[in-house]
Amino acid sequence: MIINMREGAAEQEIQHIIDRVKEAGYQAHVTRGIERAIVAAVGSGGRRHELQALAAAPGVAEVVPIAQPFKLVSRQVKPHGTVVKVGAVPIGDGSFVVIAGPCSVESREQILSTALAVKASGAQLLRGGAYKPRTSPYEFQGLGLEALELLSEVRQETGLPVVTEVMSTEDVDLICEHADMLQVGARNMQNFALLRRLAKTSKPILLKRGPSASVREWLLAAEYLLAGGNQNVILCERGIKTFETGTRNTLDLAAIALARELSHLPVIADPSHGTGRPTLISPMSRAAAALGAVGIMVEVHPCPERALSDGPQSLDLDGFARLMRSLAEPLRALPMREAATA
Ligand code: PEP
Ligand code: MN
Repeated sequence: MIINMREGAAEQEIQHIIDRVKEAGYQAHVTRGIERAIVAAVGSGGRRHELQALAAAPGVAEVVPIAQPFKLVSRQVKPHGTVVKVGAVPIGDGSFVVIAGPCSVESREQILSTALAVKASGAQLLRGGAYKPRTSPYEFQGLGLEALELLSEVRQETGLPVVTEVMSTEDVDLICEHADMLQVGARNMQNFALLRRLAKTSKPILLKRGPSASVREWLLAAEYLLAGGNQNVILCERGIKTFETGTRNTLDLAAIALARELSHLPVIADPSHGTGRPTLISPMSRAAAALGAVGIMVEVHPCPERALSDGPQSLDLDGFARLMRSLAEPLRALPMREAATA
């Protein structure tokens, strides 16, 4: 249930509602907006009728049920979008953020040259995999700790905050020492033990949508993070499995618009995994931005043909510079026909 406070409700009135929500057997999560506060009562096993009765408490405008199964990620709880700060970079504040870097960290030279080049072209964050979820056990699995240390070094040298994937609960503490944001990969979206563990960290989480997950399942995965105590979550649409074979995955643009409608969390797009095709990265990025995505994450490698993972979908350094220029171009106004006059 949501308890919407009146505009200008006093602090004691808000505190009273928080206390009453707890007494009724629920957790209380408060959003203080510019005009009014919202208290969300979440949990199971509480006494619902006691919440409903709070409509009569001082300072309360209305008590309404939360329409969706996800509660804390719902836009109903927080009508204005959330801004997540990664290092010093705000994501969701209205500017468009570009996260770029190789699929895997392969060497000092490779990650440093990529970081310097993407920074010069305008990227604000660096990505690079240290632990790689690969379909085959015979494929490159990532450099692990060595890669994390290289990411730390490159962050020092370039000032770019870094994002890297966490695959296991065992690695969380170590990765938190080296990364500014932890990525939950598509295959781990419903690894509930991992989500519960990450909810206890203070680092922002980039939660990728699973290849076969519905938007509802994706948002419920995010709910695990918020319910467990981590409010700093960014959603990433990276394509789903469909019958299409012309692209690696099908970047689900409608899901970006829907996630934004249903949730206050910032949404970004990953057109690299979402299409598998460098030529589609610019048009899909522009489309995602038009739908309200607040940023993109793209794979960039100094020499894609030598990449140890995801070379065929990676942009080279010049290709990335071209992508950045294309993002700055205005979207074309549609040439509408004039209405016929009678
Ligand atoms: C990646 O970002 O390199 C990756 C493996 O992504 P996903 O989990 O979306 O496949
Ligand atoms: Mn990849």
